[in-house]
Amino acid sequence: MKTKEVLDKTIQFFRDKKMENARLEAEWLIGAGLGLDRVQLYLKFDQPLKDEEVTKLREMVKRRISGEPLAYITNSRGFYGLEFKVTPEVLIPRPETETLVEKALDYLKTLDQEVISVLDLGTGSGCIGLTLAKKDPRVKVKLVDISPGALSIAKENAQSLNVQDRCEFFESKADQFLNQTKESFDLILSNPPYIAPTDTHVEKDVKDFEPHTALFAESGTSLLKLWSQAGIAKLKAKSLMMMEMGFDQGPQMKDFYTSLGSFSKIEIIKDLSGHDRVISGEKNG
Ligand code: GLN
Repeated sequence: MKTKEVLDKTIQFFRDKKMENARLEAEWLIGAGLGLDRVQLYLKFDQPLKDEEVTKLREMVKRRISGEPLAYITNSRGFYGLEFKVTPEVLIPRPETETLVEKALDYLKTLDQEVISVLDLGTGSGCIGLTLAKKDPRVKVKLVDISPGALSIAKENAQSLNVQDRCEFFESKADQFLNQTKESFDLILSNPPYIAPTDTHVEKDVKDFEPHTALFAESGTSLLKLWSQAGIAKLKAKSLMMMEMGFDQGPQMKDFYTSLGSFSKIEIIKDLSGHDRVISGEKNG
């Protein structure tokens, strides 16, 4: 079979299964399976495929049809213009989290020191902390996760982004790390698990395939609060704490950040869909 035939069959199959963006999905999947980008894929349309290539592609198509996210099948996801390795050990980086990163980078621009110490709690793939290190060469980042599997993916991503010399990795619960560390930080940030186990809005594919330790926290906000509270003592005199949260957790988290009594400025930041998505608290002297 030729590349074009496999692609056309896959598009048709995805359409029959009522998949949205059938063509794009098929191009990404077949391209990734053959190690080709979209342009290369089209250039190789008439190339006959080996039997084992066809078998491999068929396997990938089957996984996609079963609902497995594309990122786990291709082991890759773009985030903030960078490429991250992902496996089912880590949450797939989301566009909402780019909002957090963007605001963090804006804050870093206001600092004029030579070294900026950053702490990323529950780092998963490393997409938050590593993106900051990649975009600002002054950043030294500590990345903490309870999952050894996640940390090894984050380490691989640090290597492939070539920021490993400015990264340190810690296998720990976030609050334990905060209670033990002697260091204080210019910026503490996180995308913690913030979905209540009783939440009925979680999409099936997310629930079926993504790591539950990265998604669910008792009452939704329990870890947001625990980590923020433990982090307060580890912030420098002038510093920022930022956390991603659920779209309906803004008012509650704003009250909580106010009750911590350390921030001179507290903000709720909306994501691109207009939902409350990030809580931030700034210390200023
Ligand atoms: N934004 C993710 C989702 O809705 C949740 C991520 C998280 O709990 N940190 O699937």
